[in-house]
Amino acid sequence: MINEERLVASFMALARMDSPSGEERAVSDYLMNALQGLGAEVERDAIGNVFSRLPGHGEPLLLNAHMDTVGPVGNIQPVLVDGVIKSDGRTILGADDKAGIALILEVVRTALEQGLDLPPLDILLTVQEETGLCGAKAFDTSRLRAREGIGLDTGGAPGTIAVAAPTHDVLKAVVHGVAAHAGAEPEKGISAIVVAAEAISRMPLGRIDEETTANIGFINGGRALNIVPDLTEVRGEARSRDKAKLEAQVRRMVAAFEEAAARYGARVEVEVKREYTGFRLAPDEPIIRLLARGAAEAGLEPSYIETGGGSDANILNAAGIRIVNISCGMDKVHTTDEQIAVADMVRTAEWLLACLRLRASAGPM
Ligand SMILES: [Zn+2]
Repeated sequence: MINEERLVASFMALARMDSPSGEERAVSDYLMNALQGLGAEVERDAIGNVFSRLPGHGEPLLLNAHMDTVGPVGNIQPVLVDGVIKSDGRTILGADDKAGIALILEVVRTALEQGLDLPPLDILLTVQEETGLCGAKAFDTSRLRAREGIGLDTGGAPGTIAVAAPTHDVLKAVVHGVAAHAGAEPEKGISAIVVAAEAISRMPLGRIDEETTANIGFINGGRALNIVPDLTEVRGEARSRDKAKLEAQVRRMVAAFEEAAARYGARVEVEVKREYTGFRLAPDEPIIRLLARGAAEAGLEPSYIETGGGSDANILNAAGIRIVNISCGMDKVHTTDEQIAVADMVRTAEWLLACLRLRASAGPM
């Protein structure tokens, strides 16, 4: 039922349009045109998200993907070899998340062409997902008719459903020491770098448990080789699919800074900010049941995974929309080895199409 050649061509065309976060304009122009061509209402909001609606039968459904990619980009050249699409090795491919967008377009095209029933569709294609879910955070969710949705922004075998994602906190610590001449009178100084190093060495980091992780990502400080550093800034993060575990981990990180500062007579200011809230959908939620039934129709075995990363789905769930990501077949994302198998895209398209038809034909599920 799916036009494989057209799906591949449309994915390749999208992949060729460089769209690092914040530079999605060309790809969004292209998509607005494509959606208008399908008869959809289309608008772009102030930050650049493309929001589109199509009429249909039954309960509305949200489809979501993001237009931006990570780097490196620059004249991306997708190549198809033995059924697998890759970049030429210099850049990422951008299957994350243009595979998701190509799938949405192809499934809607197929349904309209073949006169298949669709549910009323809200299609949200966001900007700046990779740099902190900024597009989704800025989107006015009161524009949505749908209370449930399918996101196409994860990897894994066709049939994979990401039913849970973590809550994510970021932390910034500024350590204030005392500057002194490092050769003449170092005893008058308090090294902010030493305080930060000791704090970091005493906090649990990396994988804390199966659903909790923590990382120090930046450390910045020092003025000169001969000055005891009076200022160091450290930035880190922690995530967990269990909010209480996250809060305990963040407390340990903050305490490590405070204790180290106290030992040396330094001062530390720690700022903790919630980036996004986690979610977990139960197997009997209507959207999960729809995906499982659609998978069965498409001959796929659903597999339920819990992710360690955030996505637009975190922001949308926090706004009351029950949405999960399904795999669109992307693999080795965020690297220049990123790839996607055409067969996986086709099977995912069949799965998505089956879900849409079920949604349009069923009453409330
Ligand atoms: Zn993504």
